[in-house]
Amino acid sequence: MAHHQVLVVGGGAAGITVAAQLRRARAGLDVAILEPSAEHWYQPGWTLVGAGVFSLEDTRRTERDLIPSGVTWIQEAAAGFDPDHNRVTTSAGQTISYDVLIVATGFVLAWDTIKGLSAALGSGGVCSNYSKEFAPYTWEAIQAFKGGNAVFTCAPMPIKCPGAPQKIAYLADDAFKQRRLAAKVIYATATPGIFGVPVYAAPLREVVARKGIDARYNHVLTEVRADTKEAVFKVTEGETSREEVIAYDLLHVTPPMAPPAVVADSPLANASGFVEVDQYSLQHVRYPNVFSLGDVSGMPNSKTAAAVRGQAPVLVANLLAHLEARAPEAAYDGYSCCPLITGYGKTIMAEFNYKQEATPSFPLDPTKERWSMWFVKRKILPSLYWNRMLTGAQHERRFVPGVSR
Ligand SMILES: Cc1cc2nc3c(=O)[nH]c(=O)nc-3n(C[C@H](O)[C@H](O)[C@H](O)COP(=O)(O)OP(=O)(O)OC[C@H]3O[C@@H](n4cnc5c(N)ncnc54)[C@H](O)[C@@H]3O)c2cc1C
Repeated sequence: MAHHQVLVVGGGAAGITVAAQLRRARAGLDVAILEPSAEHWYQPGWTLVGAGVFSLEDTRRTERDLIPSGVTWIQEAAAGFDPDHNRVTTSAGQTISYDVLIVATGFVLAWDTIKGLSAALGSGGVCSNYSKEFAPYTWEAIQAFKGGNAVFTCAPMPIKCPGAPQKIAYLADDAFKQRRLAAKVIYATATPGIFGVPVYAAPLREVVARKGIDARYNHVLTEVRADTKEAVFKVTEGETSREEVIAYDLLHVTPPMAPPAVVADSPLANASGFVEVDQYSLQHVRYPNVFSLGDVSGMPNSKTAAAVRGQAPVLVANLLAHLEARAPEAAYDGYSCCPLITGYGKTIMAEFNYKQEATPSFPLDPTKERWSMWFVKRKILPSLYWNRMLTGAQHERRFVPGVSR
């Protein structure tokens, strides 16, 4: 049976970052990554693929080129977790044992929970930036749009990058206005408000009002009727609910998301299927040699790649403490960042923590729309991701030991 000191399950944003930081911290550590995909995608770039700014190819790299030097890559998927015996079984039937396990499998997208959606995607104006297959089609659909209803949906939380469903609505609105189209932009979201963090919700409400966007809250998409171009929503109003049918000419869908079944059905999961880790130490509450970060981890933070930047150094410090039989010594403050693009050339750089406090990285009012933050989103963050985050070079001062709870 193969054995590794540290086994990382998932080689996405979280898995690669944490493996790279571990190797930098302890060069001799035996680290393996279990990841089936030969390609790695910069998903935060897909909003700009859908807006015609990036090509899909700009967001792709070969996984082999990102595996940190000295780390073993096992190109298989985890098919079962047995934390009572420190073992993972793989899709190819291997059993791998470990001293420490890190779970970083991300979300799965539940397209099929919406009736008619899978068949409708990719034609007739039905698109989604949440999939590499369909993000390029978003831009095609925006360009082909001739007027009428452009409907943008947002699924119930948690989803990755909760700002992404509205960013594409603002970008499309800009594109339509530039072409002087008679467009009605409808943002139909399952959430009760425009954004979960009050300090950033206030300027976003102003953006919605200024643009004349029709924002409809507590709207959960249940069905797409491609033949009649109708989107069906379940709308909750207090204790009651009703059905609402909205005709569309363009429909951008954000699907519901969930942890993969292999995690949700394992002993590692909490009642919602996420890995049951302490929200500060990122250590499992029942299996001390198991840690988790990224979208699949059970912390109540906003799920973003930026959050991984806050989590990875904490996880590394606490994992090394565990190996040396010390108590966890670093705490994650819930940091997340959502660059809220409000149009071409405008972004509110929303950074915040568990306490919903603004935690700006720049000495500027973070609630303002700025061209400089658009530049950061477009030019700086992709390079930061590929060259600093995934190489383990970036350690954010404020997240390493001593964050107050
Ligand atoms: C449209 C869009 C816009 C976004 N915008 C932003 C943004 O502006 N800013 C931001 O910070 N974040 C943004 N995000 C979110 C960000 O991409 C995710 O939060 C981030 O990728 C999470 O990292 P992760 O490693 O947890 O998951 P992922 O990066 O999704 O990686 C998970 C990996 O696990 C692998 N895996 C799955 N199952 C198994 C298994 N059984 N065994 C082994 N491996 C497995 C997968 O193949 C994958 O490689 C956006 C995402 C999307 C889709």
